[in-house]
Amino acid sequence: MDDKEKQLRLDLKYLRMAGIWSENSYCERRKVGCLVVKDKMIISDGYNGTPSGFENVCEDENNVTHPYVLHAEANAITKLARSSNNSDGATLYVTDAPCIECSKLIIQAGIKRVVYAREYRLSEGIDLLKRAKINVIHLNPDEYETK
Ligand SMILES: [Zn+2]
Repeated sequence: MDDKEKQLRLDLKYLRMAGIWSENSYCERRKVGCLVVKDKMIISDGYNGTPSGFENVCEDENNVTHPYVLHAEANAITKLARSSNNSDGATLYVTDAPCIECSKLIIQAGIKRVVYAREYRLSEGIDLLKRAKINVIHLNPDEYETK
């Protein structure tokens, strides 16, 4: 197995783990999970949800997402701000293509690679990451057999 194949297997594993992690989300409309990996260690994780101390409900009675809900990537990156780890040079694995707001955070956090599974209807986040020379990889784990 060459290095490229090894990296692909690793990427698929972390991406699947991000998918499992997304199941923690109590949001109804969309469950997003994310992992930040550096030197083969998971240094942070996140899923979309309300800030600490807020009720675990993401949507209002009309099924509209509350404006204070944090995206998975924002949760993972802000968790790092309270830890002794740092994301400089790390890879971010996320179930869904990052939005433009999260992409700004990803760039500023020094993350160098982003691997995501599902496309989002808007590509502005991905476009911004590419402009910042971040290595962006779209992988659909469903297209690969479990190894
Ligand atoms: Zn976002």
